[in-house]
Amino acid sequence: MQVKKVIPSGYCKGVISAIAAAKKARNDYPHEKIYVLGMIVHNTYVTKALEKYGIITIDDKNKTKEAALEEINEGVIIFTAHGIAANLKKRALEKGLIVIDASCTDVIKTQELILKRLFEGYEVWYIGKAKHPEAEAVLAISPDIKLLTDIHNLPPKPLKKLFVTNQTTMSVYDIADFQKGIKELVPDALIESEICNATAMRQKAIMDLKDCDLLYIVGDPVSNNTRQLRNIALKSGIKKAVLIETAKDLNSEDLKDVENVYVTAGASTPTYLTDQVIEALKYYDEKGFLPTLDIDINAII
Ligand code: SF4
Repeated sequence: MQVKKVIPSGYCKGVISAIAAAKKARNDYPHEKIYVLGMIVHNTYVTKALEKYGIITIDDKNKTKEAALEEINEGVIIFTAHGIAANLKKRALEKGLIVIDASCTDVIKTQELILKRLFEGYEVWYIGKAKHPEAEAVLAISPDIKLLTDIHNLPPKPLKKLFVTNQTTMSVYDIADFQKGIKELVPDALIESEICNATAMRQKAIMDLKDCDLLYIVGDPVSNNTRQLRNIALKSGIKKAVLIETAKDLNSEDLKDVENVYVTAGASTPTYLTDQVIEALKYYDEKGFLPTLDIDINAII
């Protein structure tokens, strides 16, 4: 069995810089409480590793970000790589918190583009995932932005000129379908794809696989870019694509009669977890069974 890593895969620049910002905050403010509003990047192991640094993730699905922020009265607040609504950042400063904004520059670029088009008088349609923090931050820019989640449920044709863009981690296939459907409805719509370079390159690397019998996608199921890698694989004709969080999720049943197994990883997946999967697969190839593994949380970040 051949075990190969898909290149590129794993950490993107936005994730690297968000994690670095959190670690720097710990160094810069050794005596302050440090909170992250939401998961700094969408990977539970990264969140657990930050806890080891005394960095607390506030991610209560039953509370709005506004409500969660109101409960923080001292220390450092870190906003995540997915971007943050301007009103939340303003409120954190009003509360006297030390604010660290780890928004990815590509996310900020999309937000700025949307603001520009709003000022130019466009109605804005944004293709994204409901309740995803990146989409929530964009929707907070203006009530005039419409979130598109279903190609079969487009809003009515607008009276104003229309601008269409998207969340940075969408599938290139899905965005192409949306763009086609929107062009049929509003032929003169101005459409600008904002899939980020890291996402596009990781998806293309999967589309280019020629001899893949089985693809493992290592990552957290809450990560949109990770889930999209699986969708891309299946749409590209890869016979089997399995999303796993760690090497512990490997199943030898999947490996029977497999000649070429590839491993990719979401942009928020720690390299340590991906390397562990590759090592476990090589072990299986040599010994005929999977190893028993422990995950060293200290090795995550
Ligand atoms: S996936 Fe793209 S937009 Fe998201 S953090 Fe990484 S580089 Fe930035």
